[in-house]
Amino acid sequence: MATLQADMDMEKWGNRLGELTPQERSIVAQKATEAPFSGIYTTNKESGIYRCKVCNTPLFKSDDKFDSNCGWPSFDDAISGAVKEQTDEDGRRTEILCANCGAHLGHVFMGEGFTQKNTRHCVNSLSLTFEKKQGGAENLKEAYFAGGCFWGVEYYLEKLKGVQSVVSGYMGGVIKNPTYQEVCEGNTGHIESVKVIYDPSLVSYEDLAKYFFEIHDPTQVGRQGPDVGTQYISAVFANDEKERAIIERLIGFLEKKGYKVATKIYDKSKFYEAEEYHQDYYERHKKEPYCHGYIKRF
Ligand SMILES: [Zn+2]
Repeated sequence: MATLQADMDMEKWGNRLGELTPQERSIVAQKATEAPFSGIYTTNKESGIYRCKVCNTPLFKSDDKFDSNCGWPSFDDAISGAVKEQTDEDGRRTEILCANCGAHLGHVFMGEGFTQKNTRHCVNSLSLTFEKKQGGAENLKEAYFAGGCFWGVEYYLEKLKGVQSVVSGYMGGVIKNPTYQEVCEGNTGHIESVKVIYDPSLVSYEDLAKYFFEIHDPTQVGRQGPDVGTQYISAVFANDEKERAIIERLIGFLEKKGYKVATKIYDKSKFYEAEEYHQDYYERHKKEPYCHGYIKRF
């Protein structure tokens, strides 16, 4: 059995490793396999999202789950970009890992003919957690906002109906994988941002964006509240022209009401997830944000 693998991003694991059971640890960190038909999700047919046990990133959707009768949860697709593949140590099979934190998930097999996609992601239940879906069967979407310290933006957006999760991170800068320290120094060009994963059947992009404009002050230039610097500016990273048009319309509306909106609109660029200790900061510390609050503007 391999020792703690090199692909694992220790930064992202933080102290999560200590919260796992020895059996979970042996799977996610040392690539062990749970006994077939022993996992709790093998025959689970509920609608929802399967997340990484270690870092909570959404990995698989129930829509892609099928009955392979192989003894482990089987998916014929993964959420785009969420799963990394590499040749297994046995040199034969293809191992799958969480692309975010490197946790071992299982293996992927092609050409077995189970489904149209002809692919089987064979995953240990113990590498996953399951979040039952609240809304309809529509696919989840992602939206990107920056409105000052990401702790506060994440805190409020997570409370909105239809939002499945909010991740704090960095966008718009010039270096890869920036650290909090580097972003704080203000020379990397990154902006503290959040990735919002939402169910468009429950909340529209427009409603998300309106709420975003109401939980921070979009008129502040080069700062947000007590946090000063280009890393705290108000910005939206639009996935496409449709989102850009919605933001432009909302800014126009606010300007008509007399707000001098400073919010910048950028095309979506790479989102770098922030260090584990920044995620759900207020939730975990049982505190209320000092830098954000809700003000009705629409
Ligand atoms: Zn992970």
